[in-house]
Amino acid sequence: MAAKRFHGTCVICQHDGIVPGITPQGRTCRTCSGITLNVGCTECGAEEELHSKGRCWRCVLKDQIRQTLTGPTGQIPDKLAPLAAALGDMARPNTVRAQMH
Ligand SMILES: [Zn+2]
Ligand SMILES: [Zn+2]
Repeated sequence: MAAKRFHGTCVICQHDGIVPGITPQGRTCRTCSGITLNVGCTECGAEEELHSKGRCWRCVLKDQIRQTLTGPTGQIPDKLAPLAAALGDMARPNTVRAQMH
């Protein structure tokens, strides 16, 4: 997905995230470039590469973890809550790595 290329730091306001604008000075963020892109995650609002249904893959992953770990009550059992949190955190290093390119 091409959106990965949009990640960087805005040369105008130093915003770190989606920078779709291109100027002679460098990339600019949505606010500074005036470019409107639907890149915000509808669930957490993060400027992430969207995975499915307008959500970043971290939210999608969290959802999948939740679905995997929840019992019939729809709640993650207390015993498994730390595991769910740890698995959710695992999404972050990958996301950071993707932004390096
Ligand atoms: Zn900016
Ligand atoms: Zn999200």
